[in-house]
Amino acid sequence: MRTGTIFLVGAGPGDPDLLTLRAARLIEAAEVIVHDGLVSPEIMAMTRPDARLISVAKKRARHTLPQDDINMLLVQLAQGGHDVVRLKGGDPLVFGRGGEEAELAKAHGVKVEIVPGISAANGMAAATGIPLTHRDAASIVSFVAGQCKGLSDQDWSGLAGKGRTLVIYMGVKTAPQIAEKLMADGLTPDVPVAVVENVARSEMRVVRGPLAGLPDLVTDNNIKSPALIVIGDVTAREDAHLEQLVLEAHQ
Ligand code: SAH
Repeated sequence: MRTGTIFLVGAGPGDPDLLTLRAARLIEAAEVIVHDGLVSPEIMAMTRPDARLISVAKKRARHTLPQDDINMLLVQLAQGGHDVVRLKGGDPLVFGRGGEEAELAKAHGVKVEIVPGISAANGMAAATGIPLTHRDAASIVSFVAGQCKGLSDQDWSGLAGKGRTLVIYMGVKTAPQIAEKLMADGLTPDVPVAVVENVARSEMRVVRGPLAGLPDLVTDNNIKSPALIVIGDVTAREDAHLEQLVLEAHQ
């Protein structure tokens, strides 16, 4: 029997118009799709009516399938003769564990093709007008995971502050610890931050304030995952587009 190929496909932040053409073609043609919870319903609606859709959605602290089992499931499907589209929110190789899935597949001699997607940070910049870099505000940008083992032991020093933009993925639940950690690293409490929920979806919200108020910004506005926390002067730029979004968020 022929062995199938595993396509690790980035679905971007939600809007189907932000898919690459390669991703759109693969999603429309796929017979088997293994997807996580971050893939938007609009994108799932592009799949064939007879496609086999396997959800491996992860909720914080409640994993439907452990990552090792997902890796193995992909290999078994391919070895069973299926081409498999492994569909992930954003980009497969930005906090997407695509690297682990590709490694196991290769170890079993299964061919892997990776299709990039627009990562949440890039989608956020375009949708809000908050630039990731700006000649007057930031020439360094870093992406970090705000929910991972040993958050307090992680060295983020130098990643945020003057001339830098820090984008925190998976940070909604740990916002208080994140604010505390950054201030312990020397950031002043008035460093501007933005929280952007549901990037590139109709229900997107942007809220802004000072770093010291980050935990309240999250709780008072009832911010839920998926959301990004953006730290740095770029978030305070007075952009007409952003002002409008912020006003909407407060309505
Ligand atoms: N591979 C994804 C990231 C997966 S980690 C990517 O490249 O975007 C999951 C985290 O990504 C979420 O907790 C959230 O912080 C962020 N995220 C993903 N999609 C998002 C969206 N539409 N809006 C806001 N944040 C999003």
